[in-house]
Amino acid sequence: MSSKNQAANGKASHNNEREFGGTLGAVCIPIFLPLTVLFLVCVSRSPEAAVLQWPPPLPTIDQLWDPLAALLILSWISLHAVLYLLPFGKVSEGLVLRDGARLKYPINGFHSLCISGVLLILLLMLKAPVGSLYELTLPLAACAIGVSFMLSVFLYFRSFLAPPHALALGGTTGNPLYDFFIGRELNPRIGHFDLKFFCELRPGLIGWVVINLGMLMKEVELQGSPSLAMILVNSFQLLYVADALWNEEAVLTTMDIVHDGFGFMLVFGDLAWVPFTYGLQAAFLVLHPQALSPLGAAAIITLNGIGYYIFRKSNSQKNQFRRNPAHPSVARLETIATATGKRLLVSGWWGLVRHPNYLGDLLMALAWSLPCGFSHLLPYFYLIYFTVLLIHREARDERHCRAKYGLAWETYCRHVPYRILPYIY
Ligand code: NDP
Repeated sequence: MSSKNQAANGKASHNNEREFGGTLGAVCIPIFLPLTVLFLVCVSRSPEAAVLQWPPPLPTIDQLWDPLAALLILSWISLHAVLYLLPFGKVSEGLVLRDGARLKYPINGFHSLCISGVLLILLLMLKAPVGSLYELTLPLAACAIGVSFMLSVFLYFRSFLAPPHALALGGTTGNPLYDFFIGRELNPRIGHFDLKFFCELRPGLIGWVVINLGMLMKEVELQGSPSLAMILVNSFQLLYVADALWNEEAVLTTMDIVHDGFGFMLVFGDLAWVPFTYGLQAAFLVLHPQALSPLGAAAIITLNGIGYYIFRKSNSQKNQFRRNPAHPSVARLETIATATGKRLLVSGWWGLVRHPNYLGDLLMALAWSLPCGFSHLLPYFYLIYFTVLLIHREARDERHCRAKYGLAWETYCRHVPYRILPYIY
């Protein structure tokens, strides 16, 4: 049965196409990735900060549990749930679902970031020990991992109450391990509260910059003032998070929201992986201060600026084109028609490479690592991981687009032969 027919019949497929290594991946990833988070946090706090040391530094059980960390994680998630429900910002509709409905989403993530910022400033004015987040990182990470598992189990079981048209096409293989991992239900909601949309950009992403601030405050405690490297890492990553939340509406058309079910993969990624591995540079800098010359800093700021420009312009160009192809900013771009009625851009940013947004993102990732110097591999973890992630994501997207657009996609690939890096990849 073609996916078009399934859509028409409102039935989810029991398809056999499995991603992320199928059942083996679904068993290994939920074991291996949480251990990786704990390992990396331990390494970032060790004086050697050596990723390749043997035996690897792993935490003891008593280092993983702290009731204060559990309280902080639960309060943080609850705070953001309350902010999500406040009537700020506009309400946007998602793409049309298989049953023809469109869900409504509150676009107030940027408000949540600003309110979080005000609360943090108040805490700093009250001399709250924000730098203690450094000591708490390990139990905080352990708790976020625990919450991810509990939420994923809840999502898996409640998905059996959902009607077939509400299930993700790739998440109903019938193999419980794989379906738990990849996610069965597409848009699980409690009333109007959309669990996937909430987790995607709020507690984890904003939590990441709060942890970064904790690292900066710890550095202030130890050194008397924040280093230039620490300020750059904090500012670049805050810009990235603020940009994501400012453009929150764009998440409604991403693969995560449109295509993937909400299971362990996304829950863990949103709540544990992002906040505790994306900011490793700041954690590293606490014990490994780096001297950065003004010229070096200027070069890194320029690199981040170029990356951000490419990332933002290309993402905005595609979003604008998808929302209103007649808009003056995109109306003159060259396009090719597809059998679905949608067109593909073949000029502008999307005529340079097939994923200019990934290119910009990778340049920024490099700029986040460079302030940490070249003595250690750890601060480059994000860059290496992100390169692998985006190459894999590009291949997944390519498969989806080839299936969706057929010959038109082949034509696009002939016009724009490079995937991410012009003339290289
Ligand atoms: P993209 O924004 O790259 O979207 C891919 C989709 O765009 C395709 O499925 C297709 O969908 C459409 N498209 C592709 N080519 C064209 C074209 N030539 N003309 C018009 N439409 C086209 O998806 P992602 O969600 O992967 O990335 C969004 C951003 O998020 C990126 O900047 C990425 O770097 C970033 N990101 C960051 C992550 C992080 O952890 N920091 C993780 C993942 C992503 P359709 O035709 O159906 O519209």
